[in-house]
Amino acid sequence: MTARVLIVDDLLPNVKLLEAKLTNEYFDVITAFNGQEALDAAVSQSPDIMLLDVMMPGMDGYEVCRRMKADPQLMHIPVVMVTALSEVSDRVTGLECGADDFLTKPVNDVALVARVKSLVRLKMTIDEWRRREETCDQFGVIPADESATGMEATGARVLVVDKQEIIGAKIKDVLAVDKHEFFLSTGQEEALGLALENPFDLIIVGAIPESEGGDSLRLCSMLRSRDETRNVPILILIEDDDMDFLAKALELGVNDYLVKPVEPSELLARSRGQIRRKRYQDCLRDNYERSLSMALTDSLTGLYNRRYANAHLSTTLQRSKEDGRPIAILMIDIDHFKQVNDTHGHAVGDEVLREISNRIIHCVRSFDMVARMGGEEFIVVLPDAPTEIVLSVAERLRSVMADNPFKISDPKIGELTVTISIGAVLARPGEDTPEDLMRFADEALYAAKGEGRNRVVSAFESEFRPSGKSAAG
Ligand code: GH3
Ligand code: MG
Ligand code: MG
Repeated sequence: MTARVLIVDDLLPNVKLLEAKLTNEYFDVITAFNGQEALDAAVSQSPDIMLLDVMMPGMDGYEVCRRMKADPQLMHIPVVMVTALSEVSDRVTGLECGADDFLTKPVNDVALVARVKSLVRLKMTIDEWRRREETCDQFGVIPADESATGMEATGARVLVVDKQEIIGAKIKDVLAVDKHEFFLSTGQEEALGLALENPFDLIIVGAIPESEGGDSLRLCSMLRSRDETRNVPILILIEDDDMDFLAKALELGVNDYLVKPVEPSELLARSRGQIRRKRYQDCLRDNYERSLSMALTDSLTGLYNRRYANAHLSTTLQRSKEDGRPIAILMIDIDHFKQVNDTHGHAVGDEVLREISNRIIHCVRSFDMVARMGGEEFIVVLPDAPTEIVLSVAERLRSVMADNPFKISDPKIGELTVTISIGAVLARPGEDTPEDLMRFADEALYAAKGEGRNRVVSAFESEFRPSGKSAAG
């Protein structure tokens, strides 16, 4: 993995030292010597991570970090504070400014490389979701403008694992101010079971009992390998200077760590950071999924839209070509719909469109696809449907509209009689293209209109489609 690292420090020797270590690991390094330069470089060079000195003349590291995290363009760049300060209160100030981590000078090589790699990996995941969201945005769907630092960090569901009950209880005490829902476990098997069943926002992993192997890294690796728990942040507790252990943990995808004995304010700050980030990531994913469904569905009726219907028809036809099972489509158009609008207004027209959609959905099987192709035209794709079924579904659709007046919410209007015309066509597996099928169905529909409306015309054996092999040929 390679990444661009921005090193910020007012002292040249400090910059050179970090630059040498990171260049050695094949990172692409850029440098800045004061706060303003750092912010400018963050904008112009899009680094993947920033290593930021705290004590600098003029704008100090805390202020740089605060500005980074308040700027929508920059807030996604992870910031690691690098400082000679070892006071806990300074670390906590940094984390509260939105810093993603802390390294103390002299910087330990293992911790440096491990932290940079794990934060860059996290940033890449978030970048990917942001990119997908932007793609959806091109379809005209506006994503929510949220950031990790804007997320609530309270009321989360937290799992704490440690073989000593008293450690779990202490952690729970410290985090109680954030009003989380806590689950405490003393064993690996039990913890894994809980994690698979409950969607946690944070898992804190301490010591595992010897009877279960005594290996907390194994639990972390199991949590990372299961779909249910892959994205849950893990905070691991480590013995004072066990850098090998830490390097392995971060390599496995553990998100952050705390050195024992755990310092309460640091525990609080780090768990808040992880919970916020988890919620931000969830929010990006939800937005993406919602945007995607909005890009593929029709907002008036909730049915699929034309874009989805075209793609669906292609894949369904392809499958039918492979397994030889028949598929059919019904093209549906409302009769004299313009009159409904002209007489009663557009809102009533919309009501009718929604009711027609509901009735269509109720008449077809769960795996039949119903879409609104635009205006007052609908399509139904019926996979694995022989001729008799197709014709009976089409006839049922026609009669369920014509024989049951539409109740309109405006009591002055009361009920309306609305009818539809349907063109039905059965695909010849391997021969018809989606365009062929749509065209034949449209022609059949046009014939149904011409024959007086409120009827079904099928193009199975009719003049609307050429008989014999390929329709195109
Ligand atoms: P025909 O029986 O030949 O299909 O006649 P028609 O009046 O249904 O057909 P035409 O294509 O002339 O008119 C379709 C009407 O559908 C025109 C338009 O106002 C209406 N329409 C299209 N989309 C919407 C919509 O989203 N809401 C409402 N209320 N009306 C719509
Ligand atoms: Mg019409
Ligand atoms: Mg029309």
